[in-house]
Amino acid sequence: MSGALVIVELVQGRPAMASFELLGLARDVAAPTGGGVCALLFSADRAAAALLIARGADRVFAVGDPLAADYNSDTWLAYAERAVREAAPAVVLASHTTSGADLAPRLAFRLESAVATGCVSVAAEGGVLRFTRPCYGGNARETVSFRTLPAVATVRGGCHDAVPADPARQGGIVALNGGVPASRLRVVERRKENPQRARLEDARVIVAGGRGLNGPEGFRVLGELAEALGGVVGASRVPCDLGWCPPSLQIGLTGKTVHPDLYVAVGISGASHHLAGCGGARNIVAINTDPDAAIFRDARFGIVGDFQKVVPALVAEVRKLRAGC
Ligand SMILES: Cc1cc2nc3c(=O)[nH]c(=O)nc-3n(C[C@H](O)[C@H](O)[C@H](O)COP(=O)(O)OP(=O)(O)OC[C@H]3O[C@@H](n4cnc5c(N)ncnc54)[C@H](O)[C@@H]3O)c2cc1C
Repeated sequence: MSGALVIVELVQGRPAMASFELLGLARDVAAPTGGGVCALLFSADRAAAALLIARGADRVFAVGDPLAADYNSDTWLAYAERAVREAAPAVVLASHTTSGADLAPRLAFRLESAVATGCVSVAAEGGVLRFTRPCYGGNARETVSFRTLPAVATVRGGCHDAVPADPARQGGIVALNGGVPASRLRVVERRKENPQRARLEDARVIVAGGRGLNGPEGFRVLGELAEALGGVVGASRVPCDLGWCPPSLQIGLTGKTVHPDLYVAVGISGASHHLAGCGGARNIVAINTDPDAAIFRDARFGIVGDFQKVVPALVAEVRKLRAGC
């Protein structure tokens, strides 16, 4: 077994930036194993396949099956297994997203191998692949290697640079269509998130709210600040669990990993589980009534105060500054 297989995720028909990052990582880890990089694309769109080749794939398995157009753990698993049997990679990489984290353990089980989820780095050292990931609630990191191949891993977004696109790069496209068992799942309903909204993983500015917002109304106020700053709203786990905002906004160890230039944490205490998802932000600004809140240790700027007074004042100031530009 040699090389790497990347399971690609699509956003509005285009490979996600996180998948390009995985291709960059795959190129680095595939080289020492003496193999190339394959990508598994759940679309027959040749333009999408060409983008993957330009970003580092040598071969793209393009699944044209309409039943696999949207994530379905049974169908994706069957095609992923087929691609692995054909490509025989040393490592399979998926994004640490809801679907990636659902698929990877199933695939590892099917291949009688093992899985490392939520990795922040993968390195090939002395012919051995080592996977590093947060543990103990984000307070420590562990590095693991595999006794079985292929190694299956999910990798958090923003942990590796994507290779710049080279349209002159050559690669092959292999069509996969059918020949897999029928899914045992019946999808009852799919609800798409607002497509106009930028993805948290790709956002340059995030205004995130926590338990300190004290209810869903607080998120309306945060939305105004996010809009004024040209950003999007995120959340700690508590407001998601309490139904104050959608679960898809959750940032942290069991939520999304984000890497914005500006992360405004409002009414968030700064638990390690939360910081595991936003610690890579370039600048953290914290707004909190408690001057001893842990978030201030990681914040570049801090405002001690009630968000109900601070946030509207910030919105007014940002709008004034923007109007003057
Ligand atoms: C296995 C596991 C996984 C987890 N995964 C995640 C995860 O992915 N993401 C995540 O976020 N958490 C996660 N958690 C939960 C995490 O440990 C914390 O409980 C959570 O992050 C706390 O959320 P919070 O900061 O919003 O709430 P709190 O810790 O309750 O903090 C609320 C803050 O708001 C401040 N405040 C109160 N009123 C105001 C006001 N009017 N204005 C301004 N500030 C105010 C308070 O001073 C306080 O600092 C996980 C926990 C476990 C055990």
